[in-house]
Amino acid sequence: MPSDEIIYLDNNATTRLDPAVVEEMLPFLTTSYGNPSGGYQFGAQARQAVDQARERVAALLGCQPGEIVFTSCGTESNNAAINSALQFNPRGKHAVTSSVEHSSVLRHCEQLVKRGCDVTFLEVDQNGDVDLAQLEQAIRPETAIVSVMWANNETGVLFPVEKIAEICREKRVLFHTDAVQAVGKIPIQLRDCAINSLALSAHKFHGPKGVGALYVNRRTRFVPSTLGGGQENGRRAGTENVASIVALGKAAERAAECMVEEQTRVRTMRDRFEKAIAENVSGTAINGALAARLPNTCSVSFEGIESGAALALLDRHRICCSAGSACRTGSTEGSHVLRAMELSDERVRGSLRFSCGRFNSQEDIDRAIDIVPKAIEKLRSLSEAVATGSPTGVAS
Ligand code: PLP
Repeated sequence: MPSDEIIYLDNNATTRLDPAVVEEMLPFLTTSYGNPSGGYQFGAQARQAVDQARERVAALLGCQPGEIVFTSCGTESNNAAINSALQFNPRGKHAVTSSVEHSSVLRHCEQLVKRGCDVTFLEVDQNGDVDLAQLEQAIRPETAIVSVMWANNETGVLFPVEKIAEICREKRVLFHTDAVQAVGKIPIQLRDCAINSLALSAHKFHGPKGVGALYVNRRTRFVPSTLGGGQENGRRAGTENVASIVALGKAAERAAECMVEEQTRVRTMRDRFEKAIAENVSGTAINGALAARLPNTCSVSFEGIESGAALALLDRHRICCSAGSACRTGSTEGSHVLRAMELSDERVRGSLRFSCGRFNSQEDIDRAIDIVPKAIEKLRSLSEAVATGSPTGVAS
């Protein structure tokens, strides 16, 4: 009998707000509503809160507060970084990215192609890794930017972005990384690193949706995409979303505090889940298992099932997970990430992503380990019954 409490295993889609974050942002939604640009004490309070948030985000990333630009989300940060590089470099007629990026980079690059810019989409191997020699070869004299994600949202596979940034620095090409899934999950130290810009999003690490940031190295020229008032030091116009920025700052502080303990605890839960699934369900393959991965993500393919049907059945048991990425749920194409890894159609069709987070308990994992194998078994016997035309006798 399904229990009423949800088992939330979709932390790469979004995360629950940390109560400390809610507490810190609430006054800025109620009493402290001043505009940070106001020339009075009431406005200055809001400005100080935004400055404190900037310091907290910078501390999490190991960079300077002045290198942080607040934005509305990870998508905006990615778009702004790529646009800036192309506008800034008059020879910039070419960009390099990978074929497994999030849609906020891929769709943007596809749009650039329509506007006459050439884009190289790097392939990945079966483990989901990029070939650094191929990446280096892809850089040309007219390349304006290389944009490669830090951690893949579907498989959790980590790209060696620090090494890639070094290659780009030697070739004098800007390097941007979409670190939306990495920030808050793994340690990041941008000081003395060759990364020019980095995107992050609060809702992936227990902050609210609709607020993000773009790190822009102090020596990197930046052309803003959003023009208007001089907010964010002229780099992103628009009255600051103070409450959300404060929340992002607090979420960053909490991530820094919890990082060491959480990495181990979350990895242990993910590994326990993965091991149990692999042992108890035949025809199972963990995607990206041989690559360096985020500690929280499990992308798994089950032979003989359709992920859409599995999601629906698991939902009835109150398990929240995704087919590939959350953005893909409902799409019939199948994951572009798993296809890029050249996995078979069957493996792509039968893939599910489970992602753990700060508020998962061992009990959640116990319940998932109990429910998932039974659900897969049920789906397999149903499709076998359909194939053979025999009555199933399987109650839903
Ligand atoms: N990049 C990656 C890797 C993501 O996983 C996401 C969100 O799923 C984004 C970018 C977009 O972030 P946001 O939802 O804040 O626009």
